[in-house]
Amino acid sequence: MMSEVLTAPLIGISRHRLATDGKGVTTLVAFHGCPLRCKYCLNDQCHDTEKIFRVVTPSQLLDELMIDNLYFLATGGGVCFGGGEPLLYSDFIQEFCKIKVPEWKVTLETSLNVPLQQLVRIKPYVTQYIIDIKDVNSDIYQSYTGVNNVIVLDNLQWLLSEGLSEHIVVRVPHIPDYNTEEDVARSKSILTEIGVVHLDEFAYKR
Ligand code: SF4
Repeated sequence: MMSEVLTAPLIGISRHRLATDGKGVTTLVAFHGCPLRCKYCLNDQCHDTEKIFRVVTPSQLLDELMIDNLYFLATGGGVCFGGGEPLLYSDFIQEFCKIKVPEWKVTLETSLNVPLQQLVRIKPYVTQYIIDIKDVNSDIYQSYTGVNNVIVLDNLQWLLSEGLSEHIVVRVPHIPDYNTEEDVARSKSILTEIGVVHLDEFAYKR
């Protein structure tokens, strides 16, 4: 029996990003699909199968990203997986990381709203996590995203328990019409209490 070829649908590849995903030049690889339905989603094409622009295998993606290898090596950069939700494709990311240039850093932009196993699988390869937590309050999270945040907080605590706090940036947004200054302050306080050390507070635009 032939083994199935691993592929992933993309909504975009964006090269030469500087200072957006941490240190170095990076290429953003944006996956199709997301379990959330955020009201102010900037990448809404990730929910529409007609907006898939490419389906690639790990080695096809590597061939394409190799064009910037020298930039990555000279600046300490690499690849940033976003979307959509990249952890829906953790098996693909795992295979890609096994064949990539070892020096490339791997950044993950995620909501963490996926089963823990998806996270466990790629943990050995990820240099930095950028986590969009929305709001720690479960009612606010549910009304803004349409889903609950139970596994989000469990997953974040698992990463912290693995000693990864220095590799995690948690983004804490002010969400117009959904949370208040006090809600954001409360989220920050709870996140600090559980061991998050890098918080990025900012405001969503409608
Ligand atoms: S988590 Fe990101 S990609 Fe998914 S719906 Fe929210 S903003 Fe859009």
